[in-house]
Amino acid sequence: MVVGDVTTGTDVLIIGAGPGGYVAAIRAGQLDLDVTLVEKDAYGGTCLNHGCIPSKALISATDVAHDASEAEAMGIHADPAVDLSAMVGWKDEIVDQLTSGVEKLCKANGVNLVEGRAEFAGENTVRVAHSGDGQGSESIDFEHAIVATGSRPIEVPNFEFDGEHVISSRDALALDTVPESLVVVGAGYIGMELSTVFAKLGTDVTIVEMLDSALPAYEDDVARVVKSRAEELGIDFHFGEAASEWEESGDGITVRTENEDGDVSEFGAEKALVAVGREPVTDTLNLDAVGLEPGEGGFLDTDDRARTDIEHVFAVGDVAGEPMLAHKGMKEGEVAAEVIAGEPAALDYQSVPAAVFTDPEIGTVGMTEAEAKEAGFSPVVGEMPMQASGRALTLGETEGFVRVVADDDAGFILGAQIVAPEASEMIAEFGLAIEMGATLEDIAATIHTHPTLGEAVMEAVENARGKAIHTLNR
Ligand SMILES: Cc1cc2nc3c(=O)[nH]c(=O)nc-3n(C[C@H](O)[C@H](O)[C@H](O)COP(=O)(O)OP(=O)(O)OC[C@H]3O[C@@H](n4cnc5c(N)ncnc54)[C@H](O)[C@@H]3O)c2cc1C
Repeated sequence: MVVGDVTTGTDVLIIGAGPGGYVAAIRAGQLDLDVTLVEKDAYGGTCLNHGCIPSKALISATDVAHDASEAEAMGIHADPAVDLSAMVGWKDEIVDQLTSGVEKLCKANGVNLVEGRAEFAGENTVRVAHSGDGQGSESIDFEHAIVATGSRPIEVPNFEFDGEHVISSRDALALDTVPESLVVVGAGYIGMELSTVFAKLGTDVTIVEMLDSALPAYEDDVARVVKSRAEELGIDFHFGEAASEWEESGDGITVRTENEDGDVSEFGAEKALVAVGREPVTDTLNLDAVGLEPGEGGFLDTDDRARTDIEHVFAVGDVAGEPMLAHKGMKEGEVAAEVIAGEPAALDYQSVPAAVFTDPEIGTVGMTEAEAKEAGFSPVVGEMPMQASGRALTLGETEGFVRVVADDDAGFILGAQIVAPEASEMIAEFGLAIEMGATLEDIAATIHTHPTLGEAVMEAVENARGKAIHTLNR
């Protein structure tokens, strides 16, 4: 008998051990289901290995160096030397700690781990090609499957990633020397976060963006604060420019772009970092065999229980659609496992927060003012500029604001947009408020620690009620 003939069985078969897949596996294990998790590459997926965690590690590390070098007003005169290779080594240790933690947690919850690449071979069967030499393959029969294969970076035509001249976000997070210059294609959140890192390391960064603004997914005044800070850091923006081709020149490359009128511009740099978005990984799964067809954009359509069109197949995380964020995938993973275990779980997307770890950070949740109007509310809006925050002054970071959007009648919190230091942390208070159905009055009545950035949340709420103390009311 060859290894490929071995067939095993499981209640729940999960493909992909990123945040969607590993959370589903742990929760399924907690619910006493017999669960098998197949991963072809590394536990923790994009998030732990090449995304959220590595990028935030490098952002924090570069902030330490950059903040020290800019702290003369605080009486600090420092000229820190950065060893990028050591910094990346430190980041890798964090990644190792977290990925081995995921593996241990899966095992401790009874999850059967299989290393290899899975594809469907029938309605209730996957075939797994094992990684490593001569490991062969196996078939696994399942009662339920959860697809959690995540996403990959989109390639721009003529800009295939070669890891040297044209790099992806994954390559950028593993560089061991600081590039002298970088053309970044795309001013979405990944392009903006990485541009900020390299600008702070001293790289000469040029961003070319096809659209006419940075961070187009965010409101103009939110994006404007981050863009002007990026310009202060020396980042050079070129909007309305689509990257069309590149060629080697000297020690680096020349990137050509084209605008709407067909005019061509050229930008020279050591490398090009292409960060124009991500696409779901559904094409390598032989979905036909299980009777599934991807929907628009290659995503798998799911209902509010993370179930696809096929009763016994679920999909979670990036593969199940926007927003492609780790915490959204984790929640879907929990729900898929609970539904399979027969629990009355369902997804509620009313308050999915999003954060951008630029300088300053962005944190958003729920509706913008425009979205609230579109949804039929007559919203009331309150704002607190960070310039009026005592804590922001003591941090030397006063750019940005906290904005709250609430229902004018009952005062229910509908959404919030924060652009400020620690916005990624502050937004959680508004997420909880939306989830609990809290009102402006509830937040206003909550005593916030002084002096903290969180007081700006309370002040924005008081501003919406016309009762702000530390700013003039609207
Ligand atoms: C640079 C960067 C920064 C980011 N920052 C943030 C952030 O700050 N916050 C945030 O919320 N999100 C962030 N994200 C997005 C986040 O990484 C993703 O939303 C998240 O990883 C999606 O989780 P997932 O489980 O759906 O897929 P993934 O994490 O992509 O995991 C999918 C897994 O499936 C495996 N796989 C695929 N096909 C197969 C197969 N056929 N057989 C077996 N295994 C397979 C892959 O190897 C992978 O390990 C960032 C992404 C990037 C690239």
